[in-house]
Amino acid sequence: MRVLLVEDDHGVGGAIKDVLDSRGHPVEWVTRGADALLRHRGADLLLLDLGLPDISGLEVLRRLRRLAATPILVLTASGTDERDIVRGLRLGADDYLLKPVRMDELLARMEAVLRRAQRDEGIPAISRVRVGGIDIDLDTHLVTVAGEEVVLTRIEFEILAVLARKAGTAVSREQLLDEVWGDAYVAVSRTFDVHLSKLRKKLGRPSPLHNIRGFGYRLGD
Ligand code: CA
Repeated sequence: MRVLLVEDDHGVGGAIKDVLDSRGHPVEWVTRGADALLRHRGADLLLLDLGLPDISGLEVLRRLRRLAATPILVLTASGTDERDIVRGLRLGADDYLLKPVRMDELLARMEAVLRRAQRDEGIPAISRVRVGGIDIDLDTHLVTVAGEEVVLTRIEFEILAVLARKAGTAVSREQLLDEVWGDAYVAVSRTFDVHLSKLRKKLGRPSPLHNIRGFGYRLGD
């Protein structure tokens, strides 16, 4: 996969570029947010540091999401305010990694994020699910609640789509993580909770999304 790496720390950037290049993933490396906005088009995936010298990574993310749906993995320094990570996910980052980055974890996350994006493109245009006042078009990704369109991020939609295809039945947390992220690994678990709580808010009250303690979730009764 072609990777655009946005990282102003030369040690970190150089190490990531070397590893990815050696694994056959060509890397274009830029150190400024402005360059990320100019150069994102050729990339299959973006690795985006949040602390950049010109524009903040969050601002880069916000602007990029208006332009493209390219998968984005955020890189955050340890000690980064957790709220910034949540903001990043809310702005449409697909996942995040804490620095110092472990290369095997980076590669696993990159592959999972890319797999998910590719699977997204392959969703067949078949069905429509109604649960209570919620209408979910699995083809167009249009979701309405009580007739009003709600805007979901890609991950929120994917979570909802997995539950909608099995509406009225219990879906385990592991299965949901596996279907949405491609891997039910523990590291993604908290990211998942952030996405789920945002989705829950957008679906309104009374919530159609039921927790099944110790197991998972069910959409609808
Ligand atoms: Ca930085």
